[in-house]
Amino acid sequence: MRFAAAVLRSYESRFTLEEVMLNAGPDDGEVLVKIAGCGMCRTDLAVRHSAGRSPLPAVLGHEGAGVVVETGGPDTGLSPGDHVVVSFDSCGHCQNCMGAAPAYCDSFPSLNLFGGRKEHAARFTDAAGSALAPRWFGQSSFAEYAMVPARNAVRVDPTLPIELLGPLGCGFLTGAGAVFHSFGAGPGDTIAVYGAGAVGLAAVMAATAAGAVAVAVDRHPERLALAERLHAIPVHAASPGLADLPDVPGLADLPDLPDRIRQLTDGGAHYALDTTGSPRLINHALRALRPTGHLGLVARLHVPLPLEPGTLDRGRRISHICEGDAVPGLLIPRLTRLWQAGRFPFDELIRTYPLTDINRAERDCDAGRVVKPVLIPAGKGR
Ligand SMILES: [Zn+2]
Ligand SMILES: [Zn+2]
Repeated sequence: MRFAAAVLRSYESRFTLEEVMLNAGPDDGEVLVKIAGCGMCRTDLAVRHSAGRSPLPAVLGHEGAGVVVETGGPDTGLSPGDHVVVSFDSCGHCQNCMGAAPAYCDSFPSLNLFGGRKEHAARFTDAAGSALAPRWFGQSSFAEYAMVPARNAVRVDPTLPIELLGPLGCGFLTGAGAVFHSFGAGPGDTIAVYGAGAVGLAAVMAATAAGAVAVAVDRHPERLALAERLHAIPVHAASPGLADLPDVPGLADLPDLPDRIRQLTDGGAHYALDTTGSPRLINHALRALRPTGHLGLVARLHVPLPLEPGTLDRGRRISHICEGDAVPGLLIPRLTRLWQAGRFPFDELIRTYPLTDINRAERDCDAGRVVKPVLIPAGKGR
């Protein structure tokens, strides 16, 4: 079959809308999904800086949601017409998959980031018949259709706005899962969130839903206003006249930041989530934790992380969190139920764009003008 997709041909080029071809129907255990909407995530854009590790040309997009149109074999557990959110891929049989930790699948990097399932590579080509990279995150959803493993397609209530649900498969899953699973936060706990983007604001919503108190730290006033609307205490971490942090352009170094967070959290936060990957901010975040506090990192570190003396004293700990420690088939329905109850208003973070405007969505994302772009194939946006 032929359909439209946004193709990235080089690390520097714009996305181009092209006709692509899938040269076979679903294998056993796969489903073909007509994409209703696909979120744009930082990890899609990070491909540009992957220094050759993520193969091109590729169809990116890993926050797809849509409607099943064809199933492969009798064992997918899905039927044509089912509405699904497509999450990350995992093998299903390594120790971590068997232990309900699929985000730490032994094959996570190869299945999601660096090459996909090689046995399926030849099926996906451009209009001229030249091979495209194997599917990205088990999906490649910046397209009208995606062929996905049924294992990472999560059925959802068909009365929900399917075109908006894709980010529940990665960005919103990551922030909410960190709060619910990695931290196990509960009523009265305090959570400091560094960076009020899609992941950070999902953590804020989850904290509020769990009865915890969130403090959101960011340099964009409009993002802090959004965090405040989601019931976080806003802390503006940029100050004119102070030098920018070398590792996070525009974010000023505020030596009093840990003190401010400790004041706002009655002696230090129980939990902290860093979405920036900035070593200096990570040190601040550790100093603003109470004893036994837990700092979770979700951004990929691009430089060594020196920890200043004392930052890990008194039982404080730090860990990297992938995909919110989530089992997507459990967490995504939980998040949609919370949304229906008005307690996880993720749609407030979304702006939709037609898939043809993918380059404008990327520019808006880079400039901080949008928290979560969602691309609608053949849609008009809003
Ligand atoms: Zn696995
Ligand atoms: Zn993502």
